[in-house]
Amino acid sequence: MSKKFIKRREQREKKRIALERIDILFSLAERVFPYDKELANRYVEIALAVQQKAKVRMPRKWKRRYCKRCHSFLVPGVNARVRLRQKRMPHVVIKCLECGHIMRYPYLREKKERRKKKDANASH
Ligand SMILES: [Zn+2]
Repeated sequence: MSKKFIKRREQREKKRIALERIDILFSLAERVFPYDKELANRYVEIALAVQQKAKVRMPRKWKRRYCKRCHSFLVPGVNARVRLRQKRMPHVVIKCLECGHIMRYPYLREKKERRKKKDANASH
């Protein structure tokens, strides 16, 4: 086995572990949120640090569960307002009620993005 191969496998393993940790940390944040918001926010900070260090994508499940500006753990109806908008492109508007930051996520984006990527690849 070449060193390169081992290294690549190690990288993959690291990313897998990072994703596992992110999932655990967000699950913990969700669990403690009702009685300890500060702790929930700290779990988010740690999860973000893990994510940045391992250079992994934030799992879709948790992507919309924290504020991009103040990094608060967000619970719709508690400290986040979620609205659907149809203007131009259908999108979800999430407002962080902790700092007022507004985040917009086009929905159906996953599908569309994948299609766009495929088209781009085909034309090149
Ligand atoms: Zn915020």
